[in-house]
Amino acid sequence: MVPNAVRETVSDIVRTELLDRCPVCDHDGLLVPSVGDDFSDNSLGSSVAAPSRDEAHPVSKATLDGLDVTSLMHSDWRVCGHCAMMFSRTRPLLDATSTWYNPLFRTVENRDFDVWPLPEMFVRNQAQTAQDMFEIFRNHGVMQDVGSVLHMRCNTGHLLDLMSSEADLTVARGMEYFESPARYAAGLLGQENVSLITSPAPQVPEIEGGYDLIVVNHFLTHSPDPRLFIEQLKPRLSEHGRIVFYNEQDHDQVLRHSDHYSKGINVFHNQLFTRATLPSFLRTCGLDARQLPHPNGLKWSVGHHTMMFVCQADEAIAMPRGNADQSLAVMNTWANMHRRYARLMALPKPLRRTFAKSLELRFGLKQPPARPDTSKNRAPVE
Ligand SMILES: [Zn+2]
Repeated sequence: MVPNAVRETVSDIVRTELLDRCPVCDHDGLLVPSVGDDFSDNSLGSSVAAPSRDEAHPVSKATLDGLDVTSLMHSDWRVCGHCAMMFSRTRPLLDATSTWYNPLFRTVENRDFDVWPLPEMFVRNQAQTAQDMFEIFRNHGVMQDVGSVLHMRCNTGHLLDLMSSEADLTVARGMEYFESPARYAAGLLGQENVSLITSPAPQVPEIEGGYDLIVVNHFLTHSPDPRLFIEQLKPRLSEHGRIVFYNEQDHDQVLRHSDHYSKGINVFHNQLFTRATLPSFLRTCGLDARQLPHPNGLKWSVGHHTMMFVCQADEAIAMPRGNADQSLAVMNTWANMHRRYARLMALPKPLRRTFAKSLELRFGLKQPPARPDTSKNRAPVE
């Protein structure tokens, strides 16, 4: 894990450590956002309606078979004074994550698509997103000279399938957290080379000569040690291999506007990248980073606040970094909105609507804009 981390005593199963240095640049000059306990107590809150300090958390109580997750409930946010990274000081220790990570992940992130058969709408979204991604890959030369591909978090395997048919791949591997999308990939798309991920820092399967393309879906925000993750990826590339990171949100935008985190930022979000800090992080890891346009229809994205980069191994270069004061300001703005939301949700239900206006809530109440129906003019997906 990250060096110089301070370990704290926690539960026997879900063990965490508290960082005292930035997980991406290793500096120890950390700034403390004005996020009090009412913020961090709710960090497991994506499935919680009424955050309350006294209330036993429904996630730990009802669904995790006595698993003690209290050590994960305080994200303890910091901003790095050097590189402006926003990150959670609380990180899961990796040695035992295989026993609890996926069940907790499924519950906290509401992965209710993990059923069989898969919901039709989910499959349609996946197919559409894969189409959009593939179009972008083709237009920007990502598929050029590609003979072997690894897709990390490949979901239903639709993108893997498109890449296979286009480029006549010798290797098309996928990795996926959940069983039902992997089952779909194998059974309905014939992508049988999909393995299940049990840890937030999985071993990346090795192949002879390395992969020409590794496509990484929303791993960096969730990674307990993003530098280590990239260090492990790079040797898996072929000589001219590329990595595409996609579905990473620009939190400078997301934290300002979004309904997305109205009930809390859950513990699976270990660092909140921005359009300034993500490319600079990739460069310092020895990857050049070219930003690509991003499809808006991604199921787990917040529309255009989502980023996609195509990278190749290069010399590590210190890039202009994000602005720490700006990161601090955007975290504080979010915390203030979140406090208002928490206060509102603590009111009896009939009063909520009445007080919503006076609390000047900007988020958490209005419905998110309807997604455009992109399913028309597309072949139906089985
Ligand atoms: Zn830093």
